[in-house]
Amino acid sequence: MMRPCYPVAELLGDGIGPELSRAVRGLADALPIRLEFRPVDLSLEGRRSRGAAIYDEAVEVIESCRVALKHPTVTAEESPNAVLRRRLNLSVIHRPVSTIPGVPTNFTRPLDLDIVRIATGGTYDDPGRPIGEDGAVSLRIVERQPVREAARYAFNFARKTGRRVTSSSKYTIQRATDGLFERVVKEVAQLAPEVPHNVELFDALLAKIILTPERYQIILVLNEYGDFLSDMACGLAGSLGIGASANLGFDSQAVVRVALFDAAHGTAPDIAGQNKANPTAIFLALAMLLNQLGELTIGEALKQTTLDLLLEGVRTRDLGGSETTETFTRAVADELRRRLNVNPPAPTASPPPPSHPQP
Ligand code: NAD
Repeated sequence: MMRPCYPVAELLGDGIGPELSRAVRGLADALPIRLEFRPVDLSLEGRRSRGAAIYDEAVEVIESCRVALKHPTVTAEESPNAVLRRRLNLSVIHRPVSTIPGVPTNFTRPLDLDIVRIATGGTYDDPGRPIGEDGAVSLRIVERQPVREAARYAFNFARKTGRRVTSSSKYTIQRATDGLFERVVKEVAQLAPEVPHNVELFDALLAKIILTPERYQIILVLNEYGDFLSDMACGLAGSLGIGASANLGFDSQAVVRVALFDAAHGTAPDIAGQNKANPTAIFLALAMLLNQLGELTIGEALKQTTLDLLLEGVRTRDLGGSETTETFTRAVADELRRRLNVNPPAPTASPPPPSHPQP
């Protein structure tokens, strides 16, 4: 039977990027579907030699594939992430953060959050300006459209996964901005009455997540709150380096138009080229990409296989194990093939023996 085939834009990066790209290709061979990668070279060298044209190409390829996997890139003259977010109008970031059994943490309670963050506005779009010598002011921007897109995404995700939504802000103090945010969320919530929804003040939420993490599932927040919350949650889960995110752009019907998936970590220049990079985060990003393609069983199998192997102690050195990028990848790929009933690749034919003795 023909395996379904999906085009995927792959944005190549710097440092450990090439090793991660090879790991992803190795893993893709273990799937019962075909991913047809369309690479674009976003490495610093590629960006410097091709200038703005490289971004035109990246945007065109991503828009035609509709899903993209991005490897980490050096931030030099510009941040490729910021450029792509702006050019593709990626207005929402979805960052799952959960405890990974077997990964040591200071916080011992189970945590399983999906943070849905509005990627634009808040206090981050305006650098502010001084007022005289001793004062400064900046604008805080909240707009109905990105809030609505994020809220619809969060409630749809809740419907699909049977989870509940908590929206959080400082609506009692930031009455105009956060008040608008909560009003728009409420409008969307009324269209999804089957999804449990509650509102929390953001400062109280931080304490409550630490005290009773099991009460929280999907958390919908404005830009800067999402930024703070993601890092706090990653710290609690002990996994700052193995998180992954989806960056989402929507059409006029608030349906996902393009989705770019990436690992939270950077290019790790200190271990680049040494076969030491931990590919867990990019595997989790790939699992999210598969879910976006509608291949939920395969996405879940990839995520669970990776997590199960970590629990069994199959880990790279950064997590206290002894696996290399290649051996960890092979272990995940072999186990995934077993779970998904995918035949191993046929052994490559050995070259014919030389017809006459070699010197
Ligand atoms: P970093 O995440 O690259 O490295 C921090 C530490 O974590 C290093 O010791 C590194 O070896 C380790 N580490 C990171 N990823 C790892 C992995 N997969 N496996 C094993 N160990 C890993 O952060 P940094 O050093 O602050 O940044 C390096 C470069 O990456 C900078 O140019 C920065 O701009 C860029 N960066 C890019 C992205 C992105 O493209 N999404 C994100 C963050 C940083």
